[in-house]
Amino acid sequence: MTQARVALVTGGTRGIGFGIADYLAREGFDLAVCGRREEEATAEALQSLRRHGREVVYCRCDVADRAAREALVRSVRDLFGRLHVLVNNAGIAPPERRDLLEASEDSFEAVLRTNLQGPYFLTQSVARWMIDERRADAAFRGCIINVSSISATTVSVDRGEYCIAKAGLAIATQLWAARLGEWDIPVYDVRPGIVRTDMTAAAEAKYDRLIADGLLVQPRWGLPEDVGRAVAMLARSDLAYSTGQVLVIDGGFNVRRL
Ligand code: NAD
Repeated sequence: MTQARVALVTGGTRGIGFGIADYLAREGFDLAVCGRREEEATAEALQSLRRHGREVVYCRCDVADRAAREALVRSVRDLFGRLHVLVNNAGIAPPERRDLLEASEDSFEAVLRTNLQGPYFLTQSVARWMIDERRADAAFRGCIINVSSISATTVSVDRGEYCIAKAGLAIATQLWAARLGEWDIPVYDVRPGIVRTDMTAAAEAKYDRLIADGLLVQPRWGLPEDVGRAVAMLARSDLAYSTGQVLVIDGGFNVRRL
């Protein structure tokens, strides 16, 4: 029997990451999911993922921490011995939502470390491993998917550090796509719009109002499963010849209208 392919989804027990993990498990992937919480706190999510009959392991890891990232990759090696898909999904909103004129360097550093430095260097570790796999087996199919945001190209002056981190992640996708092309390891940027999760809960009334007022072409909140479906499509190689591409999942937010 051929072994299942393996995906690692950072922040995969909640919100968009959970939606992605859920669709990858449906697609037949064994899963490693990581987050900052104790494993007990994620039990319900893990149980729900396991109902698809795949192997699902949880690794506690703060992606902002170098040693923790290295331990994460070691754990996935020890547990599965293989990794085909990395989804850099974990991310935070600024700890303090403050105007550009007031925002602190602490908040800037926290957001950049988690949302940009973490995925950038996790990609570096995983890419080295994937290159070895590909050298050993020409049939190896790896891919890396970064979850950025419409904030990569849309400014919000009360969370500049978030926009900068997401814009940085967008160019990181292009960089890694260019570097990993010779091994045919595609790298993609999945760019959600306004998605109903814990991250957006604090701004629910604001987004409800904006959506009701016509902000989006498709007048509803995005759902984690909207993003999960798109990532599953990439993970099963439907866009294998499109490395570096951006997949926008935003209900038409980006459609300019008069
Ligand atoms: P969320 O807060 O609901 O979930 C984030 C997940 O990431 C959680 O599981 C959390 O534990 C994990 N995480 C956070 N920091 C981490 C760290 N340092 N190490 C490991 N895990 C960590 O958020 P979400 O809305 O599901 O967001 C997921 C991703 O999608 C983020 O990168 C976010 O920026 C992006 N995004 C969200 C929206 C939205 O509208 N919700 C829109 C565009 C992009």
